[in-house]
Amino acid sequence: MKRDLRLAKFLLLTVVVSVSCATIWQIWATRQRTLNEINTNSLNLAQALSTYAEGIFSQSAMLLSVVENLEAEGRAPKNLQRMQSLVSHREGLLDQLDSVFIVDARGHRLMPTHSEDPRPTDSSKNAYFVHHRDNATHDIFISSAVRSRPGSEWELTVSRRLQDSDGNFAGVVVATLDIGDFLQPFGTIDIGKSGAISLTTTDGQLLLRYPSRVEDMGRNLSGSLNFRRYYSEIATRGTASFRSQLDGTHRLYAFRKGDHYPIVTTVALGRDEMLSAWRHQSLLTLCVVGALLAAVTTAGLRLIVNINGRVSAESSLVAAREELLQANRRLEVLASQDSLTGLANRRVFEQALELEARRAERENTPLSLLLFDLDYFKRFNDTYGHVAGDQCLKIVSDTLAYNVHRPGDLVARYGGEELAIILPHTELKGACELANALLDRIRSLNIPHSASPHGRVTASAGAATLNGMSSANWKLQLIEAADRSLYKAKESGRDKAMG
Ligand code: GH3
Ligand code: MG
Ligand code: MG
Repeated sequence: MKRDLRLAKFLLLTVVVSVSCATIWQIWATRQRTLNEINTNSLNLAQALSTYAEGIFSQSAMLLSVVENLEAEGRAPKNLQRMQSLVSHREGLLDQLDSVFIVDARGHRLMPTHSEDPRPTDSSKNAYFVHHRDNATHDIFISSAVRSRPGSEWELTVSRRLQDSDGNFAGVVVATLDIGDFLQPFGTIDIGKSGAISLTTTDGQLLLRYPSRVEDMGRNLSGSLNFRRYYSEIATRGTASFRSQLDGTHRLYAFRKGDHYPIVTTVALGRDEMLSAWRHQSLLTLCVVGALLAAVTTAGLRLIVNINGRVSAESSLVAAREELLQANRRLEVLASQDSLTGLANRRVFEQALELEARRAERENTPLSLLLFDLDYFKRFNDTYGHVAGDQCLKIVSDTLAYNVHRPGDLVARYGGEELAIILPHTELKGACELANALLDRIRSLNIPHSASPHGRVTASAGAATLNGMSSANWKLQLIEAADRSLYKAKESGRDKAMG
């Protein structure tokens, strides 16, 4: 039963722990799977947008090359006119393209020359001018979002350095791209409420962001911790999860570096928003599993309480049985013992005598019986009182019991102040010897008995032996024979044994 209880506890614990662990693991695995899917989709989107952006920059660069080639023919008004019409013709091929112009080495606009162009004619302070003037490379330079004049549309510039035949700085050819048109396809992409798409240069210049925010225009991210930690790490593509330093929203980021231009396209999706479906699903799973576990635990606990009750009922039953057995043993002792002397009582004496007599007959061995009777005991009581008489009887009984050792011998209280000893396998001679030795012991107790002619407590003993022959009244005969011997001992002056 106790094993059942332990098993029930173990099973309940195992079920609760394993189901909890499995559920938590499953929820965690689903979260990881969801994040992986989001990352994969974002990377694909970043790849597509990167291709789109690079396509626009490539087309712009091609246009710049055309102008650059024509420029080599000279800057005579006729040439500039030809260039102007060619550019005007091609501008319509690229929706995002706003204008193409040339500035000379001092930053003055050479083309277009028409007066309706509202741009300032001095570009010497613009980033692209400064960059090309100070860097003698022929690379395309993409600048951050600028306004050509206050209140105008935000635009990006794609530019290239012009140089004369000696390699000296001769000006810049610039294409401007309208950011609104650039971002127009982004608006068709579902990136959720807190998502964002951005385009940066590899050295941290934010080129554009969708959704567009005025405060981000021209922002440089190179000083930001996240930029340093994630953007500069990626080889061609990568994912990360961090809190945006621009608006504090935690997002899942997918980065894609441009294949041909030093740009990074980033798709960022709000983490909480993207995981909300997973969160609802997990909550539902937790509720269902929690309810199941609660039911199983309740049933299990009731079972345990039940078994516990049965265990304690069983142990109290065992205790009650043990108590009963002990009580029986005590009863048995009480039923077989004489309460005053502690010797076997008359009933046990009769049984033992019967048993030993049968054995003696069967084995053809002698069986002796000694009867002891305290001398002048009535007088002892009269002299010293009944309590002292009881004590004396107890001491004499102990003395007999103490000095009879052989297994099978039985010392019993026959009645009153008469004690009996059954001696199996004992001849009359041996019985008489034992009787004398015991009388000697009683004598040597030296219990004063002033009313006795012996002056101390003495006893008389009668012995009788049955020699393997059975007769109808053998038990009575043996007792009577021993009693006769005792009578003779009394007759002949007491304090002696006769057989
Ligand atoms: P005798 O020498 O002839 O045996 O004389 P006696 O006085 O011993 O014999 P009697 O048969 O006349 O008296 C026996 C006495 O033993 C009577 C009784 O008061 C006493 N006696 C018997 N059983 C008990 C007992 O359990 N306790 C006490 N204190 N006395 C007992
Ligand atoms: Mg007597
Ligand atoms: Mg007596």
